[in-house]
Amino acid sequence: MQNDFKLMSQNKIQFGTFQMFSEVGFTNACSCRMNGESDIVPGILNLALHVSDDPEKVLRNRKIFADAIGVDAQRFTTCAQVHGSKVQVVTDKVIGSGALSFANTIPETDALITNLTEVPLLLFYADCVPVLLADPVTGAIGLAHAGWRGTAAQIAKKTVHAMVESFGTEPENLLGAIGPSIGACCYEVDDAVKEKIPEYASFFTDKGNGKYWLDLWNVNRQQLLEAGLLQEHISIAGICTNDHPELFCSYRYEKGKTGRMGVCLCRKAITSN
Ligand SMILES: [Zn+2]
Repeated sequence: MQNDFKLMSQNKIQFGTFQMFSEVGFTNACSCRMNGESDIVPGILNLALHVSDDPEKVLRNRKIFADAIGVDAQRFTTCAQVHGSKVQVVTDKVIGSGALSFANTIPETDALITNLTEVPLLLFYADCVPVLLADPVTGAIGLAHAGWRGTAAQIAKKTVHAMVESFGTEPENLLGAIGPSIGACCYEVDDAVKEKIPEYASFFTDKGNGKYWLDLWNVNRQQLLEAGLLQEHISIAGICTNDHPELFCSYRYEKGKTGRMGVCLCRKAITSN
């Protein structure tokens, strides 16, 4: 499908959304970095509690972000991302995990899925690839964190499989999106990475000296296709974080000293007027 990602602002906060999700009842937002209250890089909208920022300021940033996109900050459901491929089903019992304190975040997990309404899933990124999934038929959603390790472990595909198993999702109904993250224009990796992803060798461009440009956006898109999504149901934001440090946090551009953007996906409750 065409890239349907649009940057917008609300209450002085900027974020990007995929229209295809919004149109069928899923709130989604990839936050930008401007107009926050962080200390870690002064004034950025860091949304992560695990990067040595002032926790009170992070919670204020989360509240500003939540208000701007119309979700409840107390119900943000988060996980401690470890570049693995574990997918966790979010049930009633874990709603709000990590919303106010990192101590009770869902441990060692890189993808969350749920079919509950008004549960804003929130994962954190600075160059790694956000993979968003929503099923307009069952109402199920999934959100994954795919750096090269998660991509090598096929987390995008595993997230689809988990939605099929848990919620009866038919992959051909799923809408999938790849959020802002480091692009093939900037993501240099070495042989060691290429060797770990042999099945996707065609997504590496050789630049000599054992270095490659890796196209993580399209490896993840390919995994979604292999999991059964239709080509016309997949959108790639196509914005490289390393090329836009004014808009986004980039771990590479900022040499590790930065905050994290949040990507939020939430199934809205159906309301009747
Ligand atoms: Zn780039």
